[in-house]
Amino acid sequence: MTEKLNNNNIDNWEKNQIKKNRIKYFNIVGIDLGEDYENYLNLTYISPSEDTIKGVLEKQKIFQSNFNRDYYNGMLPQRNIVQEMQDRGFLDFDPNESAEMYMCNLGLGMTYVTPNIVKIGDTFKLVAKVVINFGNFQENIDHSIDHELNHLYELALVGIEGSTFTATSGWDIIYGTIASAESAENISLNRPKRPYELFNEIINEKISKEISQIRIEKGIQVLGKPTQASLKNATSYDATNYLVDDFFKTYKKEILASRKGNNLHIILDAVGKENFDALNQLFSTHKEHFSKAFVYADLLKNLAESKDTEETRVFHQLEQQRDEILEKMHEHYLMYKNSKGTDLLRPTEDDLKAQITPERIAEAVRRISIKDLTNEQQQEFYK
Ligand SMILES: [Zn+2]
Repeated sequence: MTEKLNNNNIDNWEKNQIKKNRIKYFNIVGIDLGEDYENYLNLTYISPSEDTIKGVLEKQKIFQSNFNRDYYNGMLPQRNIVQEMQDRGFLDFDPNESAEMYMCNLGLGMTYVTPNIVKIGDTFKLVAKVVINFGNFQENIDHSIDHELNHLYELALVGIEGSTFTATSGWDIIYGTIASAESAENISLNRPKRPYELFNEIINEKISKEISQIRIEKGIQVLGKPTQASLKNATSYDATNYLVDDFFKTYKKEILASRKGNNLHIILDAVGKENFDALNQLFSTHKEHFSKAFVYADLLKNLAESKDTEETRVFHQLEQQRDEILEKMHEHYLMYKNSKGTDLLRPTEDDLKAQITPERIAEAVRRISIKDLTNEQQQEFYK
């Protein structure tokens, strides 16, 4: 809170609110020095100890978490999702997981894919929970479906060990547990970020845009309106295109080949893991500075007007780091190619285009919407 009071980016309304609450606190503990916050500034000796504050915050977190669990899990769409997970025999059963997704988007719901696992006979099969939220989209809904279907296409099971399974989604490694419905824990938004999670999304969005483009050229629409929305700036991931465009264009073959199955090593071998990690770090830095819409809008405006601000300096530094990393990747790639001798067998652009047909898209959508399956049909479905 004190940090907020000293922060120039926090508006006065919020600061006044903090001050008012502090005065209220003092009043409650029996100290009334009037309405002027300045009068209370020397009263630090009655401030609660750090341990007390920690304890209160901890309790507050638990209450919030319990509230979220009860509130979001009581919502009808959420209950339907949980019911369907149960009906399909999903073994990684955390009913709070999708409730968390509601919270992430201020109750509007999210569109997402998460891996899961079912047991058919003696074997485990990788399945996925695909949630497409219809309330949150207008014209770009078809593109969102393309984005999620590409996640689905890029999912692969790596292995199962004890009660943990590992799956890859593109470059993202996801660990799941084979749990029971009873073991649901409280909801928290503090899930640790996975190392390539954001980078993976950014690349998935780039690939999905190309898929959408092909779909549009082929005249295929699923739920969208006849007039296609522009794919430009379709998602928040587009803000990092300045960091990723050249990388994506230059190493596209290796990128695509590395995303299906457990093949991350293909891109790491080609450009060098340390360079890949360095580029990955730039997305986090970008997000740290520019994830707030108004900060990003300010940045764009200041860049357009060639103004020199703290943010534009961060931006230019990111550009410079990007160029240095791409240079190192290029050096690494030359070494890699020489040592390889021959090129790897990789899908060509034509191969990839051929894979997307109206039938395949219709089939994928049909599979998502299948609800009532008999046991045999389920076996067929999960093959
Ligand atoms: Zn995604």
